Amino acid sequence: MPDPSSSSELAAGLTFGFALALMAGLLLRFWLVSRQIRHVARHRGELPAGFANTVSLSAHQKAADYTIAKTRLGLLELALGAGVLLGWTLLGGISALNSFLLSAFGGGGMVQQLAVLASFAVISTLLDLPLGLYQTFSVEQAFGFNKTTPKLWLLDFVKSSLLGALIGLPIAALILWLMGAAGAQWWIWAWGTWIGFNLLLLWALPTFIAPLFNKFTALEDGAIKTQVTALMARCGFAAKGLFVMDGSKRSAHGNAYFTGFGSAKRVVFYDTLLAKLSPDEIAAVLAHELGHFKHRHLSRRMLLLFGTSLLAFAMLGWLANQSWFYAGLGVTPNLGAPNDALALLLFMISAPLLSFFISPVFSAMSRRDEFQADAYAVVHTNGQDLATALLKLYEDNASTLTPDPVYVRFYYSHPPASERLARLLGP
Ligand SMILES: [Zn+2]
Repeated sequence: MPDPSSSSELAAGLTFGFALALMAGLLLRFWLVSRQIRHVARHRGELPAGFANTVSLSAHQKAADYTIAKTRLGLLELALGAGVLLGWTLLGGISALNSFLLSAFGGGGMVQQLAVLASFAVISTLLDLPLGLYQTFSVEQAFGFNKTTPKLWLLDFVKSSLLGALIGLPIAALILWLMGAAGAQWWIWAWGTWIGFNLLLLWALPTFIAPLFNKFTALEDGAIKTQVTALMARCGFAAKGLFVMDGSKRSAHGNAYFTGFGSAKRVVFYDTLLAKLSPDEIAAVLAHELGHFKHRHLSRRMLLLFGTSLLAFAMLGWLANQSWFYAGLGVTPNLGAPNDALALLLFMISAPLLSFFISPVFSAMSRRDEFQADAYAVVHTNGQDLATALLKLYEDNASTLTPDPVYVRFYYSHPPASERLARLLGP
């Protein structure tokens, strides 16, 4: 048995560290967000150098207003998120939920533990609901991007909740079972299980899950198909199919993606994209996506994710046995019943506090990948076409051309338009 006095000291230390990380993260994020808002507002009046002939002032100002509106909403989300996290942990939310379910189920077993995880998920979803609705039906609506009706929104909500339960409950049950039955090294087994599920999802997502939400039709014969097929042959790609997705039923934002692995690879174009770009521009956008594939960006990201998650599972494996881990985060551990669901939950909600501080590293890697994919597109199509396509997409998505450089380091997975276009069009 560990010395109880040192355990309570460790718990107090964890509480302090947790509160400190929460405060520091909150301050840092508030600072970044207010920088972004001020920077965009300051550059609202004038187009940045180099864009005067390609972007209209009204489009530039719409992008500024949209960015500011979205970022302001992010500020509210931040404050609420921190309050909710505090409520779940130090203020005793998880502990109360756990003891309520302990008495409701007459003790702790697999079902009670699953109920803890499921009710946490349900309550969190409900808490996120008002802001999500406001984002879709107020902000997106005001700027003319929202195409979702309340009925479609509700249908999506029901479908994704059912799907979440269908996928989430079995994996949670499996991991909880491993935690109880696989001995001290359970975390290695749980990690393997988690990876297996991820690969399964990657395969099921384009083939089974996406069709539940959107209609996919084969790309019709014509100039676009000819261009795209020629490009893919040139780059040595065989895809199972070229599809058009009815993205316009939810949003006016356009996109294209290349998905799946092995023989299940497919190319998907949003109908919104096809409506706005010329065949040459579409080929250039696809070449960019193929560039990601050729450079193995996706596989490398998966490997990185698997590596970091092994580390995370190892840490969880150790923390789950420390009573101060629970006490320090405001949870009274169960006596004579497994604490596995509590450990999972506490770890899942507190880990992002730390990961935010290293997010610039991952954002930088992602932005470097984007440049690489752009370079690939220039070799196999035409840089000018990609540049005009990007400009149209930036305009259609009302992405600001003048983001704050420090904000970009933390939050931008794609380089800002000015940097991408400068590289595409050369000096
Ligand atoms: Zn990309």
